[in-house]
Amino acid sequence: MSAPNIETIVSLAKRRGFVFPASEIYGGLGSSWDYGSLGVELANNIKQSWWRWLVHERDDIEGLDSSIIQNRLVWKYSGHEATFSDPLVDCRTCKGRFRLDKLQDVNCPKDNAHHAGSGKECDLTEPREFNLMFRTTVGAVSSDEDESALAYLRPETAQGIFINFGNVLNTSRRKLPFGIAQIGKAFRNEVTPGNFIFRTREFEQMEMEYFCRPEDAPRIHQEFIDGFLEWFDSLGISRENLKLYEQSPEELAHYAQRTVDILYRYFPERDDEDKQFDELMGIANRTDFDLRTHSKKPEDREGKRLNSDSTDDLSYFDPATNERFYPYVIEPAAGVNRTILAVLMDAYTEKTNEKGEVRVILKLKPELAPIKVAVLPLAKNKPEIVALAKQLKKDLLPAMRTVYDDTGGIGKLYARQDEIGTPFCVTVDHESLEDNAVTVRDRDTWAQERVSISELKKYLQERLSK
Ligand code: ATP
Repeated sequence: MSAPNIETIVSLAKRRGFVFPASEIYGGLGSSWDYGSLGVELANNIKQSWWRWLVHERDDIEGLDSSIIQNRLVWKYSGHEATFSDPLVDCRTCKGRFRLDKLQDVNCPKDNAHHAGSGKECDLTEPREFNLMFRTTVGAVSSDEDESALAYLRPETAQGIFINFGNVLNTSRRKLPFGIAQIGKAFRNEVTPGNFIFRTREFEQMEMEYFCRPEDAPRIHQEFIDGFLEWFDSLGISRENLKLYEQSPEELAHYAQRTVDILYRYFPERDDEDKQFDELMGIANRTDFDLRTHSKKPEDREGKRLNSDSTDDLSYFDPATNERFYPYVIEPAAGVNRTILAVLMDAYTEKTNEKGEVRVILKLKPELAPIKVAVLPLAKNKPEIVALAKQLKKDLLPAMRTVYDDTGGIGKLYARQDEIGTPFCVTVDHESLEDNAVTVRDRDTWAQERVSISELKKYLQERLSK
Protein backbone atom coordinates (compact mmCIF):
# COMPACT_ATOMS: atom_id res chain seq x y z
CA MET A 1 0.00 0.00 0.00
CA SER A 2 1.08 3.60 -0.56
CA ALA A 3 -0.60 6.97 0.11
CA PRO A 4 -3.87 7.46 -1.84
CA ASN A 5 -2.95 11.07 -2.67
CA ILE A 6 -0.55 13.89 -1.79
CA GLU A 7 -3.08 15.49 0.62
CA THR A 8 -2.77 12.47 2.96
CA ILE A 9 0.96 13.21 3.21
CA VAL A 10 0.41 16.98 3.61
CA SER A 11 -1.72 16.37 6.66
CA LEU A 12 0.58 13.72 8.18
CA ALA A 13 3.60 15.95 7.50
CA LYS A 14 2.07 18.91 9.31
CA ARG A 15 0.55 16.87 12.16
CA ARG A 16 3.81 15.11 12.98
CA GLY A 17 6.38 17.81 12.27
CA PHE A 18 7.86 16.75 8.95
CA VAL A 19 6.89 19.83 6.90
CA PHE A 20 5.13 23.11 7.76
CA PRO A 21 3.85 25.89 5.48
CA ALA A 22 6.51 28.63 5.46
CA SER A 23 5.72 32.07 6.94
CA GLU A 24 2.49 30.59 8.23
CA ILE A 25 1.87 33.19 10.94
CA TYR A 26 1.95 35.89 8.24
CA GLY A 27 -0.43 34.10 5.95
CA GLY A 28 2.18 31.93 4.24
CA LEU A 29 4.15 32.46 1.05
CA GLY A 30 2.84 30.60 -1.98
CA SER A 31 4.33 27.11 -2.17
CA SER A 32 7.11 27.62 0.36
CA TRP A 33 7.66 25.02 3.05
CA ASP A 34 9.74 24.64 6.20
CA TYR A 35 11.10 21.28 7.30
CA GLY A 36 10.47 20.39 10.95
CA SER A 37 12.49 18.14 13.25
CA LEU A 38 11.54 14.92 11.48
CA GLY A 39 11.59 16.41 7.98
CA VAL A 40 15.13 17.69 8.32
CA GLU A 41 16.31 14.25 9.53
CA LEU A 42 14.57 12.49 6.64
CA ALA A 43 16.05 14.95 4.14
CA ASN A 44 19.53 14.52 5.64
CA ASN A 45 19.22 10.73 5.51
CA ILE A 46 18.23 10.84 1.83
CA LYS A 47 21.09 13.18 0.98
CA GLN A 48 23.54 11.04 2.96
CA SER A 49 22.39 7.91 1.16
CA TRP A 50 22.91 9.59 -2.23
CA TRP A 51 26.31 10.97 -1.23
CA ARG A 52 27.54 7.70 0.25
CA TRP A 53 26.35 5.70 -2.76
CA LEU A 54 27.97 8.01 -5.34
CA VAL A 55 30.88 9.77 -3.68
CA HIS A 56 32.05 7.31 -1.01
CA GLU A 57 31.23 3.87 -2.39
CA ARG A 58 32.45 4.50 -5.93
CA ASP A 59 36.04 5.45 -6.58
CA ASP A 60 35.43 7.80 -9.49
CA ILE A 61 33.37 10.69 -8.10
CA GLU A 62 34.49 13.82 -6.22
CA GLY A 63 32.28 16.04 -4.07
CA LEU A 64 31.82 19.80 -4.44
CA ASP A 65 29.94 22.64 -2.77
CA SER A 66 29.89 25.71 -5.01
CA SER A 67 28.36 29.15 -4.44
CA ILE A 68 24.68 29.88 -4.92
CA ILE A 69 25.50 33.29 -6.35
CA GLN A 70 28.05 33.22 -9.17
CA ASN A 71 29.29 35.72 -11.72
CA ARG A 72 26.41 36.62 -14.02
CA LEU A 73 28.49 35.48 -17.01
CA VAL A 74 28.06 31.86 -15.87
CA TRP A 75 24.36 32.19 -16.69
CA LYS A 76 25.03 34.04 -19.90
CA TYR A 77 27.23 31.30 -21.36
CA SER A 78 25.17 28.41 -19.92
CA GLY A 79 22.26 29.81 -21.92
CA HIS A 80 20.05 30.45 -18.88
CA GLU A 81 19.84 34.22 -19.36
CA ALA A 82 18.49 33.84 -22.86
CA THR A 83 16.46 30.66 -22.68
CA PHE A 84 15.67 29.51 -19.13
CA SER A 85 12.04 30.45 -19.38
CA ASP A 86 8.56 28.95 -19.41
CA PRO A 87 5.68 29.94 -21.69
CA LEU A 88 3.35 32.14 -19.64
CA VAL A 89 -0.31 32.88 -20.38
CA ASP A 90 -2.76 35.17 -18.61
CA CYS A 91 -6.49 34.57 -18.46
CA ARG A 92 -8.33 37.82 -19.18
CA THR A 93 -11.45 36.55 -17.39
CA CYS A 94 -10.16 35.05 -14.13
CA LYS A 95 -6.91 37.07 -14.07
CA GLY A 96 -4.95 33.87 -13.34
CA ARG A 97 -1.44 33.47 -14.68
CA PHE A 98 -0.42 29.99 -15.81
CA ARG A 99 2.37 27.99 -17.38
CA LEU A 100 1.04 26.99 -20.80
CA ASP A 101 2.49 23.47 -20.77
CA LYS A 102 1.12 22.70 -17.28
CA LEU A 103 -2.46 23.99 -17.73
CA GLN A 104 -3.91 20.57 -17.01
CA ASP A 105 -2.37 20.60 -13.50
CA VAL A 106 -3.90 23.84 -12.20
CA ASN A 107 -7.42 24.94 -11.42
CA CYS A 108 -9.00 28.15 -12.66
CA PRO A 109 -9.22 30.55 -9.67
CA LYS A 110 -12.76 31.51 -10.69
CA ASP A 111 -14.13 28.02 -10.98
CA ASN A 112 -12.18 25.53 -8.89
CA ALA A 113 -13.76 22.56 -10.62
CA HIS A 114 -12.20 23.48 -13.94
CA HIS A 115 -8.65 23.14 -15.01
CA ALA A 116 -7.29 26.46 -16.11
CA GLY A 117 -7.74 26.83 -19.84
CA SER A 118 -10.50 24.25 -20.04
CA GLY A 119 -13.26 26.41 -18.54
CA LYS A 120 -15.78 27.92 -20.96
CA GLU A 121 -15.03 31.41 -19.74
CA CYS A 122 -11.26 31.12 -20.06
CA ASP A 123 -9.82 33.73 -22.37
CA LEU A 124 -6.09 33.14 -22.59
CA THR A 125 -3.52 35.57 -23.97
CA GLU A 126 -0.86 34.48 -26.44
CA PRO A 127 2.03 32.82 -24.56
CA ARG A 128 5.13 34.86 -23.78
CA GLU A 129 8.44 33.70 -22.33
CA PHE A 130 9.01 34.29 -18.61
CA ASN A 131 12.58 33.87 -17.30
CA LEU A 132 12.63 31.71 -14.16
CA MET A 133 15.82 33.02 -12.58
CA PHE A 134 15.54 35.06 -9.38
CA ARG A 135 17.40 38.33 -9.74
CA THR A 136 19.36 40.02 -7.01
CA THR A 137 22.07 42.67 -6.71
CA VAL A 138 25.53 42.23 -5.28
CA GLY A 139 27.23 44.93 -3.21
CA ALA A 140 26.09 48.36 -2.04
CA VAL A 141 24.37 49.51 -5.21
CA SER A 142 22.39 52.71 -5.53
CA SER A 143 19.53 51.13 -7.40
CA ASP A 144 18.03 47.67 -7.88
CA GLU A 145 18.06 48.43 -11.58
CA ASP A 146 21.87 48.77 -11.66
CA GLU A 147 22.76 46.19 -14.34
CA SER A 148 26.43 46.10 -13.38
CA ALA A 149 25.51 44.63 -9.99
CA LEU A 150 22.93 42.18 -11.33
CA ALA A 151 23.29 38.56 -10.20
CA TYR A 152 21.06 35.51 -10.01
CA LEU A 153 20.28 32.86 -7.45
CA ARG A 154 21.37 29.65 -9.17
CA PRO A 155 18.48 27.82 -10.86
CA GLU A 156 20.46 24.55 -10.80
CA THR A 157 23.57 23.27 -9.08
CA ALA A 158 25.07 21.86 -12.30
CA GLN A 159 26.78 25.02 -13.59
CA GLY A 160 28.84 25.32 -10.39
CA ILE A 161 30.25 21.91 -11.28
CA PHE A 162 31.10 22.73 -14.91
CA ILE A 163 32.97 25.91 -14.05
CA ASN A 164 35.01 23.97 -11.46
CA PHE A 165 35.90 21.14 -13.85
CA GLY A 166 39.48 22.42 -14.26
CA ASN A 167 39.99 22.92 -10.51
CA VAL A 168 38.81 19.42 -9.65
CA LEU A 169 40.71 17.82 -12.52
CA ASN A 170 43.98 19.49 -11.54
CA THR A 171 43.74 18.95 -7.81
CA SER A 172 42.43 15.39 -7.85
CA ARG A 173 44.66 14.27 -10.75
CA ARG A 174 41.71 12.38 -12.19
CA LYS A 175 41.56 10.71 -15.58
CA LEU A 176 38.39 10.23 -17.58
CA PRO A 177 35.87 8.94 -16.80
CA PHE A 178 35.09 10.63 -13.49
CA GLY A 179 32.26 12.59 -11.92
CA ILE A 180 31.65 15.58 -9.65
CA ALA A 181 28.69 15.51 -7.28
CA GLN A 182 26.94 18.36 -5.52
CA ILE A 183 23.91 18.78 -3.28
CA GLY A 184 22.43 22.21 -2.70
CA LYS A 185 19.64 24.70 -2.98
CA ALA A 186 18.36 25.92 -6.32
CA PHE A 187 15.81 28.64 -7.03
CA ARG A 188 13.29 29.03 -9.84
CA ASN A 189 10.58 31.62 -10.00
CA GLU A 190 8.08 28.97 -11.12
CA VAL A 191 4.94 30.30 -12.77
CA THR A 192 2.69 27.67 -11.26
CA PRO A 193 4.28 26.04 -8.24
CA GLY A 194 2.20 23.62 -6.24
CA ASN A 195 1.36 20.07 -5.23
CA PHE A 196 2.98 20.51 -1.83
CA ILE A 197 6.78 20.08 -2.03
CA PHE A 198 6.63 18.74 -5.60
CA ARG A 199 7.14 22.11 -7.26
CA THR A 200 8.41 25.02 -5.18
CA ARG A 201 10.41 28.14 -5.94
CA GLU A 202 13.19 27.19 -3.54
CA PHE A 203 14.23 23.55 -3.58
CA GLU A 204 17.22 21.29 -3.24
CA GLN A 205 18.98 19.29 -5.91
CA MET A 206 21.34 16.33 -5.91
CA GLU A 207 23.25 16.58 -9.17
CA MET A 208 26.21 14.71 -10.53
CA GLU A 209 28.09 15.45 -13.72
CA TYR A 210 29.99 12.47 -15.07
CA PHE A 211 32.69 13.35 -17.60
CA CYS A 212 33.65 10.77 -20.20
CA ARG A 213 34.86 10.12 -23.73
CA PRO A 214 32.11 10.78 -26.31
CA GLU A 215 32.01 7.17 -27.50
CA ASP A 216 31.47 5.90 -23.92
CA ALA A 217 28.62 8.28 -23.15
CA PRO A 218 25.63 6.18 -24.39
CA ARG A 219 26.71 3.14 -22.37
CA ILE A 220 27.46 5.15 -19.20
CA HIS A 221 24.15 6.98 -19.58
CA GLN A 222 22.27 3.68 -19.58
CA GLU A 223 24.28 2.46 -16.57
CA PHE A 224 23.19 5.48 -14.55
CA ILE A 225 19.54 5.03 -15.56
CA ASP A 226 19.67 1.43 -14.31
CA GLY A 227 21.71 2.47 -11.27
CA PHE A 228 19.25 5.11 -10.15
CA LEU A 229 16.32 2.67 -10.41
CA GLU A 230 18.28 0.47 -8.02
CA TRP A 231 19.00 3.39 -5.71
CA PHE A 232 15.31 4.25 -5.48
CA ASP A 233 14.66 0.57 -4.78
CA SER A 234 17.16 0.78 -1.91
CA LEU A 235 15.16 3.73 -0.54
CA GLY A 236 12.10 1.48 -0.42
CA ILE A 237 10.26 2.97 -3.40
CA SER A 238 8.38 0.20 -5.17
CA ARG A 239 9.14 -0.35 -8.84
CA GLU A 240 5.46 -0.30 -9.80
CA ASN A 241 5.28 3.35 -8.73
CA LEU A 242 8.24 4.31 -10.93
CA LYS A 243 8.27 4.70 -14.68
CA LEU A 244 10.90 5.60 -17.25
CA TYR A 245 10.09 8.33 -19.74
CA GLU A 246 12.19 8.80 -22.85
CA GLN A 247 12.10 12.44 -23.97
CA SER A 248 11.10 12.85 -27.61
CA PRO A 249 13.39 14.74 -30.03
CA GLU A 250 11.03 17.76 -29.76
CA GLU A 251 11.32 17.78 -25.95
CA LEU A 252 15.10 17.38 -25.77
CA ALA A 253 17.16 20.42 -24.77
CA HIS A 254 19.15 21.64 -27.78
CA TYR A 255 22.42 20.30 -26.33
CA ALA A 256 21.10 16.91 -25.17
CA GLN A 257 21.54 13.73 -27.14
CA ARG A 258 19.23 11.63 -25.00
CA THR A 259 17.31 12.30 -21.77
CA VAL A 260 15.39 9.78 -19.72
CA ASP A 261 13.24 10.92 -16.82
CA ILE A 262 12.39 8.70 -13.88
CA LEU A 263 8.77 9.39 -12.98
CA TYR A 264 6.97 8.60 -9.71
CA ARG A 265 3.26 7.94 -9.24
CA TYR A 266 2.57 11.20 -7.33
CA PHE A 267 -1.11 11.28 -8.37
CA PRO A 268 -2.51 7.75 -7.87
CA GLU A 269 -6.03 9.18 -7.59
CA ARG A 270 -6.12 10.20 -11.27
CA ASP A 271 -8.15 7.95 -13.59
CA ASP A 272 -5.76 8.14 -16.50
CA GLU A 273 -2.75 5.99 -15.55
CA ASP A 274 -0.34 8.11 -17.61
CA LYS A 275 -1.35 11.26 -15.71
CA GLN A 276 -0.61 9.60 -12.38
CA PHE A 277 3.13 9.97 -12.97
CA ASP A 278 5.38 13.03 -12.90
CA GLU A 279 9.13 13.69 -12.89
CA LEU A 280 11.21 12.58 -9.93
CA MET A 281 14.55 13.05 -11.68
CA GLY A 282 16.12 13.39 -15.13
CA ILE A 283 19.20 11.67 -16.54
CA ALA A 284 20.67 13.43 -19.56
CA ASN A 285 23.48 12.94 -22.03
CA ARG A 286 24.44 16.62 -22.40
CA THR A 287 27.19 16.00 -24.99
CA ASP A 288 30.21 18.34 -24.76
CA PHE A 289 28.03 21.48 -24.66
CA ASP A 290 28.79 22.57 -21.10
CA LEU A 291 32.58 22.40 -21.02
CA ARG A 292 32.79 23.84 -24.52
CA THR A 293 30.51 26.80 -23.81
CA HIS A 294 32.47 27.85 -20.71
CA SER A 295 35.82 27.61 -22.56
CA LYS A 296 37.76 30.45 -24.12
CA LYS A 297 39.01 28.58 -27.20
CA PRO A 298 36.07 27.49 -29.37
CA GLU A 299 35.53 29.80 -32.34
CA ASP A 300 32.80 30.38 -34.89
CA ARG A 301 33.29 29.99 -38.66
CA GLU A 302 34.79 33.46 -38.92
CA GLY A 303 37.39 32.63 -36.27
CA LYS A 304 35.71 34.73 -33.55
CA ARG A 305 35.81 33.38 -29.99
CA LEU A 306 32.38 32.06 -28.93
CA ASN A 307 33.15 32.91 -25.31
CA SER A 308 35.16 36.11 -25.10
CA ASP A 309 34.92 36.31 -21.29
CA SER A 310 36.25 32.96 -20.06
CA THR A 311 39.89 32.83 -19.01
CA ASP A 312 40.24 29.05 -19.15
CA ASP A 313 39.92 26.20 -21.59
CA LEU A 314 38.04 23.25 -20.10
CA SER A 315 39.22 20.69 -22.64
CA TYR A 316 40.89 17.43 -21.58
CA PHE A 317 44.17 15.98 -22.77
CA ASP A 318 44.29 12.21 -22.98
CA PRO A 319 47.95 11.14 -22.77
CA ALA A 320 47.12 7.60 -23.87
CA THR A 321 45.80 8.72 -27.26
CA ASN A 322 47.54 12.09 -27.45
CA GLU A 323 44.20 13.79 -28.08
CA ARG A 324 42.67 16.97 -26.69
CA PHE A 325 38.88 17.20 -26.63
CA TYR A 326 35.87 18.39 -24.62
CA PRO A 327 34.47 15.51 -22.55
CA TYR A 328 30.83 14.47 -22.83
CA VAL A 329 28.71 14.81 -19.71
CA ILE A 330 26.14 12.42 -18.27
CA GLU A 331 23.97 14.23 -15.74
CA PRO A 332 21.71 12.46 -13.26
CA ALA A 333 19.75 15.34 -11.63
CA ALA A 334 17.40 14.53 -8.77
CA GLY A 335 15.31 16.70 -6.46
CA VAL A 336 15.69 16.17 -2.71
CA ASN A 337 12.15 17.39 -2.07
CA ARG A 338 10.56 15.22 -4.75
CA THR A 339 12.48 12.25 -3.36
CA ILE A 340 11.18 13.03 0.14
CA LEU A 341 7.62 13.15 -1.20
CA ALA A 342 8.02 9.87 -3.11
CA VAL A 343 9.57 8.16 -0.08
CA LEU A 344 6.77 9.37 2.23
CA MET A 345 4.03 8.39 -0.21
CA ASP A 346 5.48 4.95 -0.79
CA ALA A 347 6.04 4.27 2.92
CA TYR A 348 2.50 5.27 3.91
CA THR A 349 0.45 2.29 5.13
CA GLU A 350 -2.71 1.84 7.16
CA LYS A 351 -3.35 -1.09 9.48
CA THR A 352 -6.40 -1.93 11.61
CA ASN A 353 -5.74 -2.94 15.21
CA GLU A 354 -7.68 -5.50 17.26
CA LYS A 355 -10.06 -2.75 18.42
CA GLY A 356 -10.94 -1.97 14.80
CA GLU A 357 -9.06 1.36 14.82
CA VAL A 358 -7.12 2.38 11.74
CA ARG A 359 -3.48 3.17 12.47
CA VAL A 360 -0.97 4.83 10.16
CA ILE A 361 2.39 3.14 9.76
CA LEU A 362 5.18 4.83 7.87
CA LYS A 363 7.18 1.86 6.61
CA LEU A 364 10.38 3.80 6.01
CA LYS A 365 13.58 1.90 5.33
CA PRO A 366 15.54 1.98 8.62
CA GLU A 367 18.33 3.91 6.86
CA LEU A 368 15.89 6.76 6.17
CA ALA A 369 13.86 6.72 9.39
CA PRO A 370 14.37 10.00 11.32
CA ILE A 371 14.42 8.00 14.57
CA LYS A 372 15.66 4.41 14.64
CA VAL A 373 14.68 3.46 18.20
CA ALA A 374 12.34 4.90 20.84
CA VAL A 375 12.90 3.86 24.44
CA LEU A 376 9.65 3.93 26.41
CA PRO A 377 9.24 3.39 30.17
CA LEU A 378 6.09 1.45 31.03
CA ALA A 379 5.66 3.32 34.32
CA LYS A 380 6.95 6.85 34.37
CA ASN A 381 6.30 7.26 38.08
CA LYS A 382 8.84 4.52 38.90
CA PRO A 383 12.27 6.23 39.17
CA GLU A 384 14.20 2.95 38.64
CA ILE A 385 12.35 2.23 35.39
CA VAL A 386 12.81 5.79 34.14
CA ALA A 387 16.52 5.74 35.04
CA LEU A 388 17.08 2.45 33.23
CA ALA A 389 15.19 3.68 30.15
CA LYS A 390 17.21 6.91 30.04
CA GLN A 391 20.44 4.95 30.46
CA LEU A 392 19.50 2.66 27.56
CA LYS A 393 18.80 5.69 25.38
CA LYS A 394 22.24 7.04 26.20
CA ASP A 395 23.94 3.70 25.52
CA LEU A 396 22.27 3.18 22.15
CA LEU A 397 22.62 6.75 20.90
CA PRO A 398 26.18 6.64 19.54
CA ALA A 399 25.23 3.72 17.31
CA MET A 400 21.72 4.76 16.26
CA ARG A 401 19.43 7.79 16.63
CA THR A 402 17.46 6.97 19.77
CA VAL A 403 14.87 8.99 21.67
CA TYR A 404 13.31 8.64 25.10
CA ASP A 405 9.57 9.30 25.38
CA ASP A 406 7.27 9.10 28.40
CA THR A 407 4.59 11.55 27.35
CA GLY A 408 1.68 9.11 27.10
CA GLY A 409 0.32 5.64 27.67
CA ILE A 410 2.19 2.85 25.92
CA GLY A 411 -0.48 2.32 23.22
CA LYS A 412 -0.35 5.97 22.28
CA LEU A 413 3.44 6.03 22.28
CA TYR A 414 3.60 3.00 19.96
CA ALA A 415 1.06 4.58 17.59
CA ARG A 416 3.03 7.83 17.51
CA GLN A 417 6.28 6.06 16.65
CA ASP A 418 4.56 3.96 13.95
CA GLU A 419 3.24 7.12 12.34
CA ILE A 420 6.70 8.68 12.04
CA GLY A 421 8.35 5.50 10.85
CA THR A 422 10.46 4.50 13.88
CA PRO A 423 11.43 0.87 13.18
CA PHE A 424 11.71 -0.26 16.82
CA CYS A 425 10.31 0.62 20.24
CA VAL A 426 12.09 -0.65 23.34
CA THR A 427 9.89 -0.90 26.41
CA VAL A 428 11.30 -0.96 29.91
CA ASP A 429 8.94 -2.53 32.48
CA HIS A 430 8.96 -3.77 36.08
CA GLU A 431 10.40 -7.10 35.06
CA SER A 432 13.33 -5.41 33.34
CA LEU A 433 14.65 -4.52 36.77
CA GLU A 434 14.68 -8.24 37.64
CA ASP A 435 15.60 -10.04 34.43
CA ASN A 436 17.77 -7.35 32.75
CA ALA A 437 15.71 -7.66 29.59
CA VAL A 438 13.40 -5.36 27.63
CA THR A 439 10.61 -5.76 25.10
CA VAL A 440 11.43 -4.85 21.51
CA ARG A 441 8.42 -4.09 19.33
CA ASP A 442 8.58 -4.20 15.55
CA ARG A 443 6.85 -1.31 13.74
CA ASP A 444 5.61 -3.29 10.75
CA THR A 445 4.40 -6.53 12.37
CA TRP A 446 3.74 -5.21 15.89
CA ALA A 447 5.43 -8.42 17.07
CA GLN A 448 7.17 -8.19 20.44
CA GLU A 449 10.27 -9.96 21.55
CA ARG A 450 12.09 -10.08 24.88
CA VAL A 451 15.76 -9.22 24.47
CA SER A 452 18.43 -9.15 27.15
CA ILE A 453 19.91 -5.70 27.72
CA SER A 454 23.44 -6.96 27.16
CA GLU A 455 22.43 -8.12 23.65
CA LEU A 456 20.19 -5.15 22.82
CA LYS A 457 22.56 -2.99 20.80
CA LYS A 458 23.80 -5.86 18.65
CA TYR A 459 20.25 -7.16 18.16
CA LEU A 460 18.98 -3.74 17.00
CA GLN A 461 21.99 -3.07 14.79
CA GLU A 462 21.45 -6.37 13.00
CA ARG A 463 17.76 -5.79 12.44
CA LEU A 464 18.23 -2.17 11.36
CA SER A 465 20.75 -3.17 8.74
CA LYS A 466 18.32 -5.55 6.98
P1 ATP B 1 9.95 20.09 -14.40
O1 ATP B 1 9.82 19.65 -15.85
O2 ATP B 1 9.11 19.29 -13.43
O3 ATP B 1 9.85 21.58 -14.21
P2 ATP B 1 12.76 20.05 -14.89
O4 ATP B 1 12.87 19.00 -15.96
O5 ATP B 1 12.81 21.48 -15.26
O6 ATP B 1 11.45 19.75 -13.98
P3 ATP B 1 15.44 19.69 -14.02
O7 ATP B 1 15.91 21.01 -14.50
O8 ATP B 1 15.80 18.47 -14.81
O9 ATP B 1 13.86 19.75 -13.79
O10 ATP B 1 15.90 19.54 -12.51
C1 ATP B 1 16.29 18.28 -11.96
C2 ATP B 1 15.39 17.88 -10.80
O11 ATP B 1 15.23 18.95 -9.86
C3 ATP B 1 13.95 17.53 -11.20
O12 ATP B 1 13.86 16.23 -11.70
C4 ATP B 1 13.24 17.70 -9.88
O13 ATP B 1 13.40 16.56 -9.06
C5 ATP B 1 13.96 18.87 -9.25
N1 ATP B 1 13.20 20.11 -9.48
C6 ATP B 1 13.22 20.90 -10.57
N2 ATP B 1 12.41 21.97 -10.42
C7 ATP B 1 11.85 21.83 -9.17
C8 ATP B 1 10.94 22.61 -8.41
N3 ATP B 1 10.45 23.77 -8.87
N4 ATP B 1 10.57 22.17 -7.19
C9 ATP B 1 11.08 21.03 -6.68
N5 ATP B 1 11.96 20.26 -7.35
C10 ATP B 1 12.35 20.64 -8.57
